[in-house]
Amino acid sequence: MYLTNARILTMDAALTEYDRGWICIEGDRITGLGAGDAPGAGLDMGGDLIMPGMINNHAHLAMSLFRGLGEDVDDRLIRYILPLERALVTAEVVEVGTALSTLELIRGGVTTVADMYYFEDRVGAVLDCAGLRGVLGQTLANFDAPDHKNMDEGFARIEALHDQYKDHPRLTASPAPHAPYSTGLEVMARVAEWNAGYDLPVQMHLAETKPELQWARETYGLSTVEVTDKACLLNSNLVAAHLMYPSEADMDLLAERGVHGAYNARSNGKAGRGIAPITELRARGMSVGLATDGPMSGNMLDLFSQFAPAAMFQKIAQQTRGAMPCTDIVAMSTSEAAKTLGKEDQIGSLEVGKQADLIRISLDDPRQQPIYDIYSTLVFATLPTDVQATMVAGTWLMRDRKVLSMDAPKVMSDAKQMANRFKARIVEIDRVQAEGNGANG
Ligand SMILES: [Zn+2]
Repeated sequence: MYLTNARILTMDAALTEYDRGWICIEGDRITGLGAGDAPGAGLDMGGDLIMPGMINNHAHLAMSLFRGLGEDVDDRLIRYILPLERALVTAEVVEVGTALSTLELIRGGVTTVADMYYFEDRVGAVLDCAGLRGVLGQTLANFDAPDHKNMDEGFARIEALHDQYKDHPRLTASPAPHAPYSTGLEVMARVAEWNAGYDLPVQMHLAETKPELQWARETYGLSTVEVTDKACLLNSNLVAAHLMYPSEADMDLLAERGVHGAYNARSNGKAGRGIAPITELRARGMSVGLATDGPMSGNMLDLFSQFAPAAMFQKIAQQTRGAMPCTDIVAMSTSEAAKTLGKEDQIGSLEVGKQADLIRISLDDPRQQPIYDIYSTLVFATLPTDVQATMVAGTWLMRDRKVLSMDAPKVMSDAKQMANRFKARIVEIDRVQAEGNGANG
């Protein structure tokens, strides 16, 4: 199959672009691409942009069902999230929330997602059916997790997930200790030991909050990054989400150990936590991917909505327009993001031999014209709704903005029904809280 008459952004090492070119796809792979007319007849892209599908390297997909809840409430983790997760998160809820999110990802041009949540076998089932590529991070946590009563049960889930997906062409299992403070040194060490035989990507929140730093200091007399290193988990399999508060020494250690990062600018900004030192980490040679975090924290799951805050925060922190240029932003959602998941030989750029994961973006909107620098157009003037088509492994998941691999009306109505069930519980939480405040007052 040829895609012809396309503007092409390859995101290869030389950042090769074709103003008018073609791509040849056979099966799940790219087998040729070049400038000018295609060697054979094909599908006319009408001058639209073709670029690699985007990679969201940190999300909690099922949490789309909690989107917008407790939006400006400071203690919402304790007040809403943990009680709701304990009371309401079942395998069915995970499936319904993940389906809603998967629909959004396909429509927003994301072709690979690294998820981190509970009941990841159900997340895998949804992603598999929808045709998306993904890393399935089965969470381990010591705070009353919805799908495991103790760490043995948690590890059994990871083991089963790996057994199920070890030969899958698009899905990979991943152990996901929630954070150092919510698992502890021994559990992290057990993850490192278990994973030494598999080399799977490991996902964890790291140096995300100030209480976490205090926990590490009081419990071990170390930084939270050093505690992770002591557990032998600080290695090139680790994708560390957030990295808000590493010290200079922590940053050196992270880079030395080959750890990768996930930069969740919108989520961090909304939480009022500050700006992650991503420019400093990348200057040390670390690969960092753009990510959204869960939709309760970052609201949207496409990466266009991350582009502006991700760039602006670094410009503000560095006090220069030149910090984190547009080419870096696009790389961090494609080629560099692929490296963070250890998948750079398969995805992240349009090159012969790589998987045919690509998106078609229309550039016709007045807000996108004129185009002097295509990277600037993408980062500051393009929206997820400009994505016309999404392909994973040579299969169209969306064309002309119609998702082909999912029953969109059913996904939407299931999600609305589930949210209606949650609303009663939320009213109850607020009522108890108000009564408690009254009694205390
Ligand atoms: Zn997260």
